[in-house]
Amino acid sequence: MREAAYLALHQSGELQVRAATARKMLKNCVLCANRCRVDRLAAPGQARCRTGEKAVVSSIGPHHGEERPLSGSRGSGTIFFGWCNLHCVFCQNWQLSQHGEGRVMSSSSLAAQMLFLQASGCHNINFVSPSHVIQHILDALSIAAGQGLRLPLVYNSGGYDSPEGLALLDGVIDIYMPDMKFADSEVARPFLGVSDYAEVNRSTVREMHRQVGDLVLDDTGLAQRGLLVRHLVLPGNLAGTDKTLAFIAKEISPATYLNLMSQYRPCFHAAEYSGLDRRPTRAELREARDLARQLGLHRLD
Ligand code: SF4
Repeated sequence: MREAAYLALHQSGELQVRAATARKMLKNCVLCANRCRVDRLAAPGQARCRTGEKAVVSSIGPHHGEERPLSGSRGSGTIFFGWCNLHCVFCQNWQLSQHGEGRVMSSSSLAAQMLFLQASGCHNINFVSPSHVIQHILDALSIAAGQGLRLPLVYNSGGYDSPEGLALLDGVIDIYMPDMKFADSEVARPFLGVSDYAEVNRSTVREMHRQVGDLVLDDTGLAQRGLLVRHLVLPGNLAGTDKTLAFIAKEISPATYLNLMSQYRPCFHAAEYSGLDRRPTRAELREARDLARQLGLHRLD
């Protein structure tokens, strides 16, 4: 098995430097693309992510329902963070992402949980909704790496990340798994609560791919390193599936591992928005898959 990316940075001392840099950034926060520039230590309530120095952790455990190269036979070791840097009106996990259900955890406890997931046989550590807690992840990781953590890391974000945040993760994260939610920022604005999602998202995915390349699997089919993109098909092509697929095929790589997700159903406030108030039809889902294949995207989950 390939060595996880962060081990070299841990050995050189760079991981601890990154954690310290991230901590300093909390005083004028641009850790994610919201670029709030607030002091999260003094006034966490002013942050769009409502998170101070320490992350809220909502749930931890082996997950068998992730993409096949992540779940494998023993599960992906998911750590689901509370709060979020996006405010999706259709969020399926709104109790966690919008109400912050969970408990504030110290860095040493988070490190212990990573080691527990490794001891449980999980194939990777999968940080879900991590963009606003990079500082805490780096801090806990530098403890866990010193205590024997060896598993590859998955960064499972909404795809609204900042260049500063991603620079801190370069050489730390093995597998990036961003969403590509909308291809058009004007369409996205009322649904996500940000005005520049599509442009930021495309830059985010470009940078993630630059760091880790196409997804590489080992000979048992488990993910070792690379990019894995998730796109949720919405009814009436509201997400701009055609544009997103063309972007991935032409500007990222036709070898991108893609999960074209079909499970959309109106959750949270979605029923209040025309266009989001129904599931996509079978024909719409088939059309999306056919288009992906026509564009040469051949690694569909
Ligand atoms: S992580 Fe993002 S949402 Fe949270 S304070 Fe920093 S810039 Fe704002």
